[in-house]
Order: sequence, then structure tokens, then C-alpha cells
Amino acid sequence: MKTLSDIPFELDLVSIAKTVHVEPDSPDGRTLAELIETARRMARPKALYTEAFIDAKGAETVTVDGITFTSRMLRANLEPIERVFPFIATCGHEMDTADLPAGDFLVEFWWDAIKAVLLGTAIRHLNEHLKHRYALGRTASMSPGSGDVDVWPIEQQAELFALLGDVKGQIGVELTESFLMKPNKTVSGICFATEVDFHSCQVCRRKDCPSRGAPFDPHLWDQHQHG
Ligand code: SF4
Repeated sequence: MKTLSDIPFELDLVSIAKTVHVEPDSPDGRTLAELIETARRMARPKALYTEAFIDAKGAETVTVDGITFTSRMLRANLEPIERVFPFIATCGHEMDTADLPAGDFLVEFWWDAIKAVLLGTAIRHLNEHLKHRYALGRTASMSPGSGDVDVWPIEQQAELFALLGDVKGQIGVELTESFLMKPNKTVSGICFATEVDFHSCQVCRRKDCPSRGAPFDPHLWDQHQHG
């Protein structure tokens, strides 16, 4: 298990203000600037990963270091692969200890936007670290619960966390009973080298998702449905 806990980050007022539709020079903009200043002091984005090897592949299963995942799409994506990198990247649990004004939904929304920037930084740092350390070329990743519900059921967060050991002790991320992660701006998954571009959004039919990273691919979706 390897932890990345000293991740450099930048929080740019202008770009965050643009994301949350606030004028930097307005009273709201000044409140946002104060929140960003607080975040600069307390944020500790982090990532955790391990290098793991596939023990076995079934019709719709993949067993990694003794832990079996069930997902036809994951199985298909890992067809030519022997080595994977299970990971978790997070904005850092420190961000959940901020003393925000209770019940101020706007401030909570802005704080979440700052956390999202930190998470993005942690993900990019992890990807660059993996590419550099393991000389990976193109990579892709899949996350339990990403894409349509049956692509890789969110319940398999339990197996992913089991694979990564004491996640809370290592990077402060907790898995709730409903398989969501705390802090909320955390991403888990399995990263793998690939020759073919893959993005979970390609097999997700959700309309108007503000976070969509790739268009829906009906051909890939059909393959997933019919194997
Ligand atoms: S379209 Fe949105 S909900 Fe669907 S996988 Fe992409 S980011 Fe997630």
C-alpha cells in the first residue's frame, strides 16, 4: 500500500468563482475568498493505491489479490491485463472539520466546490505518479457505482476497501453503510493500462450530468448489455 499525502495544490479564486457563478469582487466573492483562504490552511488532499495482480478471470468476474469483483464491463476491460492499481483519491478528511456556519447552504455549496478542486488535484497527482513510477502509457479506470447501476454495483466498494486494507487509518476515508465515502469528495476505483480509451460516462445514460467526461456510447452500452 502506498500513500500520497504531500500533494501540492492551488486554489484559484477566479476559476472557483466562475464554477459557482459568483463575481470575485462582490460580497459573495469576498466570502468565497475567505473560504478559499481557510481551505489553503487546512487542506491535505491525499491518495492511496496498491499494485495488484489478477489471480483469475471468470465469465463476469475478476479476482485481484484474492478478492473477487463482479462486473461484466470490468471483466471486459481487464481482458488483456494482468496488473491493476486499486486506488482512492480524496480532498482529505481535514476539510470536513471546517467550522462552517450551520445551515448556510450557499457556503456549504461553495465549500464543496473547493473540495472538488482538491479532489481533482489528488486524482491528477495520483495518475501522474502511477504513470511515472510504473512507466504506464495510456490508462483508464473504473469505479464501483460509476456509470449505470449495473455496470459495477456500488456495493463492491466493500471489496475494493478490503483490498486496500485500513483505508481510514491510512488516509482518513470511511465507507458508510450505504457504500458512500466520507469525505464526499473522494473517488475510488481500479486503474489499469489500456490501449483503448474507456470512460464510465460512456456507459451511463444519465442526462444533463454536469460532471460528464465522455459522451454516451450506444455501441459500447449494447456490448455491455449483451456481452
Ligand atoms: S455521466 Fe455523470 S453520473 Fe454518469 S458516470 Fe459520468 S460523471 Fe458519473
